[in-house]
Amino acid sequence: MKTRRFGRLGVAIPVIGLGTWKFENDDRAQAIAALRRGIELGLVHLDTAELYGNGKVEEMVGEAIAGHRDRLFLVSKVMPKHAGAAACRRACEASLRRLGTDRLDLYLLHWRGDTPLAETIGAFEALRREGKIRAWGVSNFDDEDLDEVEQIAPGAVACNQVIYHLRERTIEHRVIPWCEQRGVAVVAYSPFGSTGGFPAKKPLDELAARLGATPRQVALAYLTRRPSVVAIPKTARAAHVDEIAGAERVTLDADALATLEATFPLAPWRGMPTI
Ligand code: NAP
Repeated sequence: MKTRRFGRLGVAIPVIGLGTWKFENDDRAQAIAALRRGIELGLVHLDTAELYGNGKVEEMVGEAIAGHRDRLFLVSKVMPKHAGAAACRRACEASLRRLGTDRLDLYLLHWRGDTPLAETIGAFEALRREGKIRAWGVSNFDDEDLDEVEQIAPGAVACNQVIYHLRERTIEHRVIPWCEQRGVAVVAYSPFGSTGGFPAKKPLDELAARLGATPRQVALAYLTRRPSVVAIPKTARAAHVDEIAGAERVTLDADALATLEATFPLAPWRGMPTI
């Protein structure tokens, strides 16, 4: 799998990783096999959260990654209700236990809640000094939230994980430019449109056929066309992992980009969307 530099962290990260939201509703053995297939193919950026299945998903991920920890870029998230200093430590330690590891590569604030950002960042920094997390980031933050983070801890935030798919390109207005100017990585979640479904559009299907790719592969190539962005589609099926991994071979020429821009136009800025 092709890699790229993960913003300020500077480590090499696969362009495509794997998400795990709603894994608890999938067949356990199949979902674990899918993650293992992904690891085999180099999709070693694995995204999970304490929220997912109320901890059950982290346990599934823990089972899938046993024996592979050193190859991974493992990410989990703390819920806003656990973002205070003491609760954040407890939440992180519980995630580590469920994942069967002693460290996360990245720990994210899942979305902004009522806890002052400075307190959460203080907790993240303490976890980082102790080696429990290698870096920290945020999720679902707009440019003004990011300004606040940068004022509290200049140069420290590693990424912003945000919604980005063909029909939801809002982050292109402000969030991607903010991140690119400061070398902060952008992680595209729900790249297939999540519960809203993947778009069935004739121009996309025709374009994919011309490129010898599938529509989902074209979508992933498009969403990761800028060096600042990596994507984390979710699948609990090994065959779908193979299709996802194949996206790295898709090259979009100027005609392809024009077709996608025309088929999925950028809507005006109306504030930061979430799932
Ligand atoms: P998504 O990746 O846009 O779409 C997932 C759906 O696509 C699943 O139903 C999956 O079904 C299907 N799918 C995947 N590959 C396929 C293929 N090759 N052919 C046909 N169907 C395919 O949705 P998402 O789960 O919302 O987003 C991805 C990840 O981003 C999440 O899992 C999570 O880790 C993260 N996320 C983060 C936040 C946040 O607030 N930070 C919010 C949402 C998501 P199968 O499993 O059957 O393949």
